[in-house]
Amino acid sequence: MLIPMSASSVTILGCGTSTGVPVLGCACGVCSSPHPRNKRYRTSAVVRLWNGKNIVIDTSADFRSQALSFGLDRVDAVLYTHAHADHIMGMDDLRGYNFSHQHSIPCFSDATTLATLRRTFSYIFEPDPTYEGGMLPQLTLHEIKAYLKFELCGTEVMPLALQHGKLSVLGFRFGDFAYCTDCKSIPESSMQTLQGVKTLVLDALRYETHRTHLTIPESIEIARKIGAQQTYFVHMTHTVDYETVSKNLPPGIALAYDGLTFEFSA
Ligand SMILES: [Zn+2]
Ligand SMILES: [Zn+2]
Ligand SMILES: [Zn+2]
Repeated sequence: MLIPMSASSVTILGCGTSTGVPVLGCACGVCSSPHPRNKRYRTSAVVRLWNGKNIVIDTSADFRSQALSFGLDRVDAVLYTHAHADHIMGMDDLRGYNFSHQHSIPCFSDATTLATLRRTFSYIFEPDPTYEGGMLPQLTLHEIKAYLKFELCGTEVMPLALQHGKLSVLGFRFGDFAYCTDCKSIPESSMQTLQGVKTLVLDALRYETHRTHLTIPESIEIARKIGAQQTYFVHMTHTVDYETVSKNLPPGIALAYDGLTFEFSA
């Protein structure tokens, strides 16, 4: 008998910049706003596949709170875009899933990111043999390369390169969905890889210019070039008020918010 498969979906676990929103110690209008969409955990997402498997993209510094807020009951794999603190600092909290899953969790990224993960979390990857504490996170690191498609949890993942200032980071395409956070520009080869994407998640920090992140006007231009039916902006700062900015975005482009969920074809 065929088992009915539900659709694949993505949940935005967080759409805030590296500080999160509200920013600690800030009393600006957005930081003190009661609007739930002006509260942003650090940027990350979960891809929930038709087969019940969950692929997390980045374990942000808010990972534990995000997992609890959005009912993340299992983690089958983690993809890392890059090793900036806001994208990796929740890695230790994967340990909770080791207890229920009873196996290690595979984590994937490029060689540069894996080297930083090994260094930053040396207590996990080069454990001290005299350590007497509780169980360490059980994680395995696997290198992937931009434009080399690989199979993960029963689906195909295409990593692509993005320029985050001088740093090359990874974006990911799954079927007709792509996730491109933390970038200032998108190389031509990645623009080609993104052709035909129906739903796009794209970095859009704020209106004011920034050296390593796309601004909202820059992201609108790139979103138009890519031509997805729907583009969602992420990694926003506290200068982005949800209601005010949303009113000024063109059709097919919207600000993401924490907990936003949409379906895609894997
Ligand atoms: Zn970031
Ligand atoms: Zn503020
Ligand atoms: Zn970054």
